[in-house]
Amino acid sequence: MPELPEVETVKNVLIPIVKNRKIIKIDVLRVSQIEGDVNEFISNLQGQTFLDISRIGKYLIFHLTNENVMISHLRMEGKYYELLETDKDSKYARVVFHLDNGHKLCYDDSRCFGVLKLSSETNYKKEEMIAKLGPEPFYIEDVKSLMKKVKNIRKPIKSTLLDQTLMTGLGNIYVDETLFASKIHPLTPANKVKEEEWKNIVKNAKEILSLAIVSGGSTIKSYHPGKDIDGNFQTRLKVYGKAGDLCPVCQKHEFRFIKVGGRGTTFCPGCQRKVGEPLNIAITGKIASGKSTATNVFKEKGYPILSSDKVVEELYKTSQLTNKIEKAFSLKFKDGQVDKNILRDYLLTHPKDKRKLERIVHPLVEKEIKNFLSTSKSPIRVVEVPLLFESNLDRYFDDIIVIDIAKDKQDELISNRDKAKALYLKEINKTNKIDENILKATYVIKNDGTKAAFINKINQIITELENLAK
Ligand SMILES: [Zn+2]
Repeated sequence: MPELPEVETVKNVLIPIVKNRKIIKIDVLRVSQIEGDVNEFISNLQGQTFLDISRIGKYLIFHLTNENVMISHLRMEGKYYELLETDKDSKYARVVFHLDNGHKLCYDDSRCFGVLKLSSETNYKKEEMIAKLGPEPFYIEDVKSLMKKVKNIRKPIKSTLLDQTLMTGLGNIYVDETLFASKIHPLTPANKVKEEEWKNIVKNAKEILSLAIVSGGSTIKSYHPGKDIDGNFQTRLKVYGKAGDLCPVCQKHEFRFIKVGGRGTTFCPGCQRKVGEPLNIAITGKIASGKSTATNVFKEKGYPILSSDKVVEELYKTSQLTNKIEKAFSLKFKDGQVDKNILRDYLLTHPKDKRKLERIVHPLVEKEIKNFLSTSKSPIRVVEVPLLFESNLDRYFDDIIVIDIAKDKQDELISNRDKAKALYLKEINKTNKIDENILKATYVIKNDGTKAAFINKINQIITELENLAK
């Protein structure tokens, strides 16, 4: 979807094409692209001359000789193509403007979400779609008015900026870039953003948008500002679309991918710490690394905890899941409950079925975790998830704590724990994806000293989180 810099580029490409050109004829090939009466649209524009194009947010305003304007919003896929009259219309041409120089301008829109609307010089700024827009960052001098408006808004800062009513100009790409440059977690409640941080948001938004405009915008997926013209700002994007890359600023963490208000969001777990409650914390680590000990430190401080292993244990007692597993692997359990020993022996001889089992169990665990996180009233809540990355559950958490342990110490702990299970547990550990995801963690705790030292480290993290949650 084109954002402000791309629309600015489209404007600059279109001005020399249409300025002082008379519209001889208009063909509306798809009526639904026109908001309002189509005949009125045609009769008011036909015969007029384009004087200029301006832009407000992502709206293009075509100014015409009879004091009328045409408002255009490209939405997802809207594009303008300049062609010769002798050329065929562009593939998804919806409205064609025949000009007085033997050229035609095709408004092209494969998905038909774009809007064209007739308005007038005196009224277009009062049209609801434009009137509701906040100022662009270029025109914001004092952030105090922004802070006043969000005083009671607990919605994430990313959603607040995307909304366009507070400030217009930042879409999904540039909001991620701006928040990364400002070191603000996208889920931070808007009313928790401090004055200095607002100043940074405005300053960085100005810089990033200006640089993107100079570069002709970012060419991502379908956006092209004009025929044979591509923006090249995508080569300068620092965070957008780079989940899994090492953060170039701290060089200690890998960018994580989450959803904020349904929009894909990339951020650095080290540079952009979530502030304000609630803080959703995941504790993960290999088997016998010390996850449960760490989780218990939170529990002793009174924070609610959920163990996904315990969730699975409870699910194994239900007839619904028991029947499903019996059917999937042709097994037979007694008493309508999954017998973990039988299942373990089966998986040892059928290692490929481990994935199949996960596909059955993970969605049920996910449901329980979502339920726990959405109903808890605590400022900090903790979920212990051994298979955090394999199950893609990392996206529900603001911070990830990985408990890391040296391999020999771990082997010793596994063997001491349950000699019969040791072989199976070591097998499971081999397929664990923690090592390749460890840089996505906010904290990596090495469990290589005494138990007291380990607990002390967890307590330090809790103090830090308590300060952030305030
Ligand atoms: Zn970083």
